[in-house]
Amino acid sequence: MSLQTQYDPKNIFAKILSGAIPSARVYEDARILSFMDAFPQSKGHTLVIPKVQACNLFDIPADDLRNLIIRTQTIARAVRDALAPDGIRLMQFNGEPAGQTVFHIHFHIIPVWEGENERPHAAGKMADMNELKEIAAQIKAKL
Ligand code: AMP
Repeated sequence: MSLQTQYDPKNIFAKILSGAIPSARVYEDARILSFMDAFPQSKGHTLVIPKVQACNLFDIPADDLRNLIIRTQTIARAVRDALAPDGIRLMQFNGEPAGQTVFHIHFHIIPVWEGENERPHAAGKMADMNELKEIAAQIKAKL
């Protein structure tokens, strides 16, 4: 599962894209979907994924990658405007040894507040869906 480019159409983000499993959606258009991370490292931890089937940085077509990072900037601005963090970290992992746990390429937008410790990556208790939807609505309002 490291730097594989064999896309698994049953991965969890494919199921979120199809609506088979629920998500707290922030933004959707013909090419991307953005939703709240269900195991947030901080309040407002948001994910941005392309609709194209790509595992990681190495198999996403260049034009989809361009569009993905530009949309990520737009959504990060809305996260900044909605939640006023002290900083924002973008993360993107390629391969299991690098920390990737879902093999559909995505950017993480992680708000950072000075003096606050972030929770660990992809771990712990699943967040409450209603709370995630409230935060998603705050971000959406700034788009
Ligand atoms: P990565 O480890 O970079 O592949 O990131 C995958 C992210 O997906 C992690 O931050 C997980 O917390 C998050 N995640 C896993 N399952 C779900 C889910 N059902 N809904 C939203 N986010 C999820």
